[in-house]
Amino acid sequence: MRCSKCGQEVPADAIYCPHCTGERQTTDREVIRGGIRGGLIGLLVGLVPALLILYLYGAERGIKAIALTVPIATFATGLILGLVKAKRDWK
Ligand SMILES: [Zn+2]
Repeated sequence: MRCSKCGQEVPADAIYCPHCTGERQTTDREVIRGGIRGGLIGLLVGLVPALLILYLYGAERGIKAIALTVPIATFATGLILGLVKAKRDWK
């Protein structure tokens, strides 16, 4: 019996195609990789305003906290966007 999806030989009693299941694991990894990539882009995007805030207002305690929060927030946003985008590509 051949899998209608990937065309590879599959045992006749198999419920799932082992080749397609294997591919799915790789795409799961790709989704995570997409999330990390998105997160890194978000981090870079967030570092620019963070450095700008530090440059404009000086490295005071409260300013440091704000400057730290910005890249974290953009990192989280990029991570989610990267995950969603990678998952959409997969479907
Ligand atoms: Zn298959």
